[in-house]
Amino acid sequence: MKTVDLVIIGGGPAGLATAVKAHELGVKDILILERDIQLGGILQQCIHDGFGLHRFGKQLSGSSYAQKFIDKVEEYNIPVMCNTMVLDVSADKKIVAVNPEMGLIEIEAKAIVLAMGCRERTRPQVRILGTRPAGVMTAGAVQRYINVEGWKTGTRAVILGSGDIGLIMARRMTLEGVSVEGVYEVMPNLGGLRRNKAQCLDDYNIPLHLATTVVSVHGKKRVEGVTVAKVGPDRLPVPGTERYIACDLLVLSVGLIPENELSRTAGIALHPITKGPVVDSSMMSSAEGIFVAGNVGAVFDLVDYVSATGEVAAAGATTYLEEKRVASVEKDVIAGEQVSFVFPQKLHIDPQQEKATVYLRVRSTMRKVKLEVVSGDEVIVTKRENFVTPPEMVSVEIPLDKVDTMKDLSIRVVE
Ligand SMILES: Cc1cc2nc3c(=O)[nH]c(=O)nc-3n(C[C@H](O)[C@H](O)[C@H](O)COP(=O)(O)OP(=O)(O)OC[C@H]3O[C@@H](n4cnc5c(N)ncnc54)[C@H](O)[C@@H]3O)c2cc1C
Repeated sequence: MKTVDLVIIGGGPAGLATAVKAHELGVKDILILERDIQLGGILQQCIHDGFGLHRFGKQLSGSSYAQKFIDKVEEYNIPVMCNTMVLDVSADKKIVAVNPEMGLIEIEAKAIVLAMGCRERTRPQVRILGTRPAGVMTAGAVQRYINVEGWKTGTRAVILGSGDIGLIMARRMTLEGVSVEGVYEVMPNLGGLRRNKAQCLDDYNIPLHLATTVVSVHGKKRVEGVTVAKVGPDRLPVPGTERYIACDLLVLSVGLIPENELSRTAGIALHPITKGPVVDSSMMSSAEGIFVAGNVGAVFDLVDYVSATGEVAAAGATTYLEEKRVASVEKDVIAGEQVSFVFPQKLHIDPQQEKATVYLRVRSTMRKVKLEVVSGDEVIVTKRENFVTPPEMVSVEIPLDKVDTMKDLSIRVVE
């Protein structure tokens, strides 16, 4: 069995940032395992711009953003095995993978970073009635078909869900000659970033229908149309509001789920809301020496944050490999008033980390708010935000120096 100091599972932006940072921190025995034939993760199919504004101060395409990290991996000679699917990870850090050249591969790692990303929710998860013809696709599949394979996926499309991938694909399909009839969103508010609505729908006169959903799909071999209906506050269709739309493509952009089959095989505790592993502020999961980076932990809105979590995981794994991780008291961070989840969910006090960045999503759209980090009755950190909305993640920094004397923490949003 091969032994490696640090194995990174997934070569997307999270795994790449982890590898680069760990190398810069002095870890020299690193291996990236990637199931795709190339590095870059989902970013390789994101040919639109909008990536890297925080990190590089300019808007790059997804593939250009990924390439910056791939170039570093190559410069540092970090070993990579592409076309290699990890099948199993155990709590004692044994990995089973498979690839066409070597067959079954067994690796024993001293530390692991899980960076498997997320996948899209599909039709059964949103329970749309009707027949099962060809032409019902997730937005990510349409993105891949158009941007990577060069296939046109239909002539007239309806998009269900106003998440970012759906908004981006509304524009992309329009540019490729697909007529986009409209975007339908079951919630009363937009699911994606405001800038994506402006640039992808408004600029192309594509209507957004809020509080409306697809109730049925029609067609035998190929989609011939869908029925949409308004929904009430209970999100159930309102009888009498149904409308038939002729189309040959229904695009689903109805959410992402962290890809955690391997976390489960390793017996790692998962969070009921994020659906990713519960992690501390060094990104270590409940399994000793197994760290987490990027969308496998929680679905992020910006890739810059994904890369940042990879760098924190790299620092955590390096400290662990150097046997410098302190057995410190951990403090839970709880989602308080108006917060749907926080990530990471625990603070681990580490002399090598001055502060922890905690990411959160709010429950509703609010203006002129304060984010407050509360320990017992005391507010220890306050951050003001002009505008917060559920699709846009917010972050707050918590100094770690006094955490051991604090009570468990909660983060709340007050108007
Ligand atoms: C379909 C889709 C389209 C998206 N489009 C956009 C967009 O247009 N704009 C935007 O801002 N964000 C988009 N996102 C969000 C985007 O995923 C993140 O910004 C970012 O790519 C997350 O980085 P990551 O490294 O965590 O995950 P990913 O980029 O998903 O990388 C994870 C990598 O892990 C690999 N992997 C997974 N399981 C295994 C395994 N068992 N063995 C080996 N390798 C494995 C995968 O092949 C992949 O390369 C999209 C997400 C999805 C799912």
